[in-house]
Amino acid sequence: MKIFTFYFLSFIITTFLTAQEKPLPVLDMHLHAVPVDMNGPPPVSMCAPPLEMPVWDQKKTWGETFVEYLKRTDCDNVITSPATNEDLIAKTLSALQEHNVYGITSGPFLKNYLSSDRIIPSLFFELNDGITPETVRDELSSGKYRVLGEVIIQYNGISPSDPKFEPYAAIAEELDIPVGIHMGPGPPGAGYLPPFAGYRAKLDSPLLIEDLLLKHPKLRIYIMHAGWPLLDDMLALLYSYPQVYVGIGVINYAIPRKEFYYYLKRIVDAGFGKRVMFGSDQMVWPDAIGRGIEAIENADFLTEEQKRDILYNNAARFLRLSEEEKKEHFKGTSRQADD
Ligand SMILES: [Zn+2]
Repeated sequence: MKIFTFYFLSFIITTFLTAQEKPLPVLDMHLHAVPVDMNGPPPVSMCAPPLEMPVWDQKKTWGETFVEYLKRTDCDNVITSPATNEDLIAKTLSALQEHNVYGITSGPFLKNYLSSDRIIPSLFFELNDGITPETVRDELSSGKYRVLGEVIIQYNGISPSDPKFEPYAAIAEELDIPVGIHMGPGPPGAGYLPPFAGYRAKLDSPLLIEDLLLKHPKLRIYIMHAGWPLLDDMLALLYSYPQVYVGIGVINYAIPRKEFYYYLKRIVDAGFGKRVMFGSDQMVWPDAIGRGIEAIENADFLTEEQKRDILYNNAARFLRLSEEEKKEHFKGTSRQADD
């Protein structure tokens, strides 16, 4: 009887402690603070991940077809955007809390998220009429931003090695601010959607960054969608430029899972597992954060150590987080920062 009481008590205590324990921390290198109608009138839905990509019959415009694609709910893994901006903010912050995530965050609504200590600000960047090297230097020197990104010049139809981007890369290098650059997929059919019409798939290739890296060897940079689907170009770049990291935002929930695993496995098998960083690219779907984390946790080709590298350690090294910052992130979990 005594033994029974002992086991019963330890069961209660363990259950209590486990319930209190936070999951191990995650660094999300690709989080957005955007309006809820960014991808069309809310709510918009998607199968995350989908089994197949959309097919366009041009009897309708691509815009109409894409909106229909984003209204689909005929799958058991659908994610749906909230109806209002307030709800999007609240649900995103609660997803960060639930999964113990700290996010490199950019976008026009960033200021609405800053009250949370889980938000690490990043300066969103596109080439438009208002932007000059001076304005970017001022912003980056202010100490407000940890990263310059998401750099979305692929949507301006501009390569990272283009002289138009060079002055900005030079400033980031000089100030030692890491840069996150979009190289890889936009929305399907981006070129036919007015807000994304400048997008060109030929700029997916990570090799286009080569000249910039040679000119700026101290530039810390990560390729935000791992250049998907140009795997060979991505591997060639990682091999030749050992300072380059990759992010796996969007491809962990918006393309078929089998393809994401094939792509990630090749990068890891080729020896670059210490340079892959988790990113959600959560825009209007707070549940995308959990889907992306689950994709890594369920990847049976990764060891536990490789999973932790992708979810936290690689980004902590890339960002050069201080010991205090790491300690803070591990508070309330089952491990210490240096375990
Ligand atoms: Zn992107």
